[in-house]
Amino acid sequence: MPAEAFAIAIDGPASSGKGTVARLVAERLGFSYVDTGAMYRCVALAAARLDLPWSEGPALAALIQTLRFELRFEGGRLAVRVNGEDVSEAIRAETISLGASAVATLPEVRTALLEGQRALARRGGVVMDGRDIGTVVLPDAALKVYLDADVDERARRRQAELAAKGQALTVEAVREDLRARDAQDMQRATAPLRRAEDAVFLDSTGRSPAQLAEEIVRLAQARGA
Ligand code: C5P
Repeated sequence: MPAEAFAIAIDGPASSGKGTVARLVAERLGFSYVDTGAMYRCVALAAARLDLPWSEGPALAALIQTLRFELRFEGGRLAVRVNGEDVSEAIRAETISLGASAVATLPEVRTALLEGQRALARRGGVVMDGRDIGTVVLPDAALKVYLDADVDERARRRQAELAAKGQALTVEAVREDLRARDAQDMQRATAPLRRAEDAVFLDSTGRSPAQLAEEIVRLAQARGA
């Protein structure tokens, strides 16, 4: 299979380590990395700034048409820009996590983002992470991975991440947010989070991102990456 057609889909619940692992895999293989969660976060942020409720599907879909997303590696981090503004930090706020999960339940929002996500995958070798990549966005991906981890470990990771950015929340509060978000992501009618039948299941509990990335790279190479 030519490199430009090779896609790796990584799905899983919040803070399962998808982003870090996906980035490492992309670096190792010289692929691009697409964080689809960042797009939902950008929509939630843009709506909040306009006082547009996270429940207004058609209005949010219209808003998306005005947003130009740029996801780029810069200085070892993923820089996320919307219409030229760097929102990398702003979209990681805990309120925006919940907002992203709310807007992501709306079919109008998902449809408005879908084509752009598929277009990014057509550009070349790609590692794309999210909730519905293996099931909806790239159902023909050469390799699909479902990454999960124990909820306590996920909560600890997320709490540390937030603390490093100056958002002081208890592990318990973070665990409740994760549970609420996972439940909403798994129970929504459109493109719910679930493991694709042909996805390889990996448990990241107690494993380092480097180990997981190594395993995914090996799987991808065995499939011709
Ligand atoms: O991956 P991340 O936690 O940044 O995603 C934020 C939210 O965006 C998720 O909780 C989920 O509701 C939504 N999302 C989605 N489909 C994707 C990626 C993210 O519904 N492919």
